[in-house]
Amino acid sequence: MNIYLTAVISFLLIAFIIDAVADYFNIKNMTDELPGEFAGYYDADKYKKSQNYLRDKTAFSFISSFTVLVIEIIFIISGGFNFIDMISRSFGYGEIATGLFFAAFLMILLNIIQIPFAAYNTFVIETKYGFNKTTVKTFFIDILKTAFLFAVIGLPVFALIVWFFVKFGSFAWIYAAAAVVLFEILITFIAPVFIMPLFNKYIPLEDGELKSELERYALRENFKMKGLYKMDGSKRSTKSNAFFAGFGKFRRIVLFDTLIEKHTTDQLVSVLAHEMGHYKKGHITKFMAMSFANTILMFFILSFFIDNQYMFEAFGMQNISVYAALVFFGFLYTPVSMFLSVIQNVLSRKYEFEADKYSVETYKKPDSMIEALKKLSVDNLTNLTPHKFKVFLEYSHPPVLERIKAINNIKTEE
Ligand SMILES: [Zn+2]
Repeated sequence: MNIYLTAVISFLLIAFIIDAVADYFNIKNMTDELPGEFAGYYDADKYKKSQNYLRDKTAFSFISSFTVLVIEIIFIISGGFNFIDMISRSFGYGEIATGLFFAAFLMILLNIIQIPFAAYNTFVIETKYGFNKTTVKTFFIDILKTAFLFAVIGLPVFALIVWFFVKFGSFAWIYAAAAVVLFEILITFIAPVFIMPLFNKYIPLEDGELKSELERYALRENFKMKGLYKMDGSKRSTKSNAFFAGFGKFRRIVLFDTLIEKHTTDQLVSVLAHEMGHYKKGHITKFMAMSFANTILMFFILSFFIDNQYMFEAFGMQNISVYAALVFFGFLYTPVSMFLSVIQNVLSRKYEFEADKYSVETYKKPDSMIEALKKLSVDNLTNLTPHKFKVFLEYSHPPVLERIKAINNIKTEE
């Protein structure tokens, strides 16, 4: 068997197995015993419900990723990519337009596979546990909007990268990397204003106790408070959250309406102080820098494979093309991107502790922060006892009990 084909199929299988093993340990790690910190927040029934939620989610993710894995392997081995390429070429356009057809057809196929799973997750599992608020209409409109964004943003960027490689040969990767980095910066700036509002309503936080308490805190911390928004998270789910988006003039701090509903002012300010902590500690800039480094590394490695004949043979292709190379390289890059995502999660968990610390040290209400974390966990039925391996691989946030412990340690230090 072609070495590239062996590599690609092994990567897919290994990634699947690693995930399955992590999930297995994660499920095994559950006990009936409620962690002491959460006494009074959960009764036996509700705790059981949170664990059943984890079981259902894990089983669902196993079945969906197994199905996708099987489809992918069959598609690769049976020459599915060549079939799509033949259709794309049959229109008789040049390399860039043909590449656009190729990418668009693949995206449509991917959607056809994923939509039933997404629908099951939203309308069966999330509904069963009382989270789902998404209507069928919103569900399909979301898909159309995402497709629209792919067409107006994704495809032009894809075309530009193909153009660079067709035109500039061996140095193309530098141009392509530079263009994608510039594009990432642009998107980060404009997303809060032009993309996010396509999916949700953002209204400036209304005057009142919360806003004045926040402004008081921000003034004290020398933080220019602008772009404080409430988002209609309740349009899709009862789950709640808060986040920071964008840069400079367009930056925003966003609170879900569901979060505001369920928390006191002190708890909300603690959560926002955490978000500001990310900003003040430069976490956002650091993640941007890492993402740029990743983009550059990816294009550099890609440049070695762009016209590799064996890679095209592995995917059963009759013709070599830049656009197909971009897609195939995505498969070869799997181990690198998995490795980088683990590193990113390790860092992200470290930053979460730092942001908690920032909140506790500046707003000085550790008990409100702890209370907010507990309420968030209970309301979202978060797994309280995830397995270490699962956390290591996939968790961008430390498990809630570790965060509470860290905050309690800061409290006793003072
Ligand atoms: Zn955070």
